[in-house]
Amino acid sequence: MTQLPLRAQLASALGRTAATLSRATGRGDGSVIGGRIGLALEPDLLRKLAQDRKLALVSATNGKTTTTRLITSALQELGEVATNAFGANMPAGHVSALSSAKHAPYGVLEVDEKYLPEVIDTTGAGVVVLMNLSRDQMDRAGEIWLLAQKWRRALANRPVHVIANADDPLVTWGASTVPGVTWVSAGQPWKEDSWCCPECGGPLDRKGMDYVPPGSAAPGPVPAAAHGGIVSRAAENDWACRECAFRRPQPSWFLDDDAVIDPRGQRWVLDIQLPGRANRANAVIALATAEAFGLPIQRALPRLREVTSVAGRYTVVQRDGRHARLLLAKNPAGWLEAFDVLDRSLPVILSVNAQGPDGRDTSWLWDVDYRVLRGGPVYVTGERRLDLALRLDIAGVPFQLTNSFEEALALQPPGKVDVIANYTAFQQIRSEFGRAV
Ligand SMILES: [Zn+2]
Repeated sequence: MTQLPLRAQLASALGRTAATLSRATGRGDGSVIGGRIGLALEPDLLRKLAQDRKLALVSATNGKTTTTRLITSALQELGEVATNAFGANMPAGHVSALSSAKHAPYGVLEVDEKYLPEVIDTTGAGVVVLMNLSRDQMDRAGEIWLLAQKWRRALANRPVHVIANADDPLVTWGASTVPGVTWVSAGQPWKEDSWCCPECGGPLDRKGMDYVPPGSAAPGPVPAAAHGGIVSRAAENDWACRECAFRRPQPSWFLDDDAVIDPRGQRWVLDIQLPGRANRANAVIALATAEAFGLPIQRALPRLREVTSVAGRYTVVQRDGRHARLLLAKNPAGWLEAFDVLDRSLPVILSVNAQGPDGRDTSWLWDVDYRVLRGGPVYVTGERRLDLALRLDIAGVPFQLTNSFEEALALQPPGKVDVIANYTAFQQIRSEFGRAV
């Protein structure tokens, strides 16, 4: 790599010092403060640090931290990788990540959805990974179509290789101004934010509903997908606008249950340690991204299997013989993913807060179908436990209200329990009950 100019070197070094001090004084991992100081001293620092590296930017409403980690793990097969492993996903976090691995030829950066256009522009990243867009913090809801539109503009006519989830209509629309897209069928369990065509506002038809294949007048079967028919399952994710030509592009990578089907039609069992469908989807995206870096699947896949926990997700905290597995769910789509991972033979503790990073508005609770929790013991806690309690009551889910996570945990018999918490509730439990066992 070429040497950074002196001013950028100094800004980068001071930022790293501040980050070290921040860690030493217990003020967090330091990635944001260090990056902010670096940027204050040299506003062009991110561009300079990004130069001469092969970068992938990863954005989505859900799964971007995990997918960033999976791609990083795969690319370490090729060499050193700079990454913002702690989820500091705005430019200050990117500066910190790149300056703490100055000589890494590769970089994988998780990017906040809103900052993506700016970060694409600044870093000139060669690879951009787009996974899903759904309602998140309700005080910001309604912006996702605008976000996709900003992605479109930022990507238009740019020499960038996009890896995108073709099963998400909004993501597809956001990515479709780019000629070079690798389309991945990674699934889309949460469809409540994509019933309308982002192009014309018309209704989107989906396989299994009132699906109307393009050019035919009546609902009918989806034409068999390519690749010798082995991907018929992936056709279940097909969609098309009823009123304009916008429809799902043909994917070249597919998630097929517990396996991935690559562009050659070869099926590979994923067999990763992270649980649930959402993580298998993340893994398929990661494999497609690794291939864009020239890393073949047979070398990337074993690296994905090494990842066991990402920023505290799925780790187990314990006290007095109770082993609590932590699942993070920040928005309705995330709750669906967490339900998929739950061990239904165990009790579950739900904790909901509504602090700044969670969004103050808890009306999203009404978008989640909690009936899946009927039949097992449910404990409710968190600052907004009463909001959650009302929601569960209306859904006919029996539960026990508790005043704190500690109290809820103490009510459990010794053994395992699952916990689903939103962002600050999750972080509180992690900091109070230790990081991992
Ligand atoms: Zn349309």
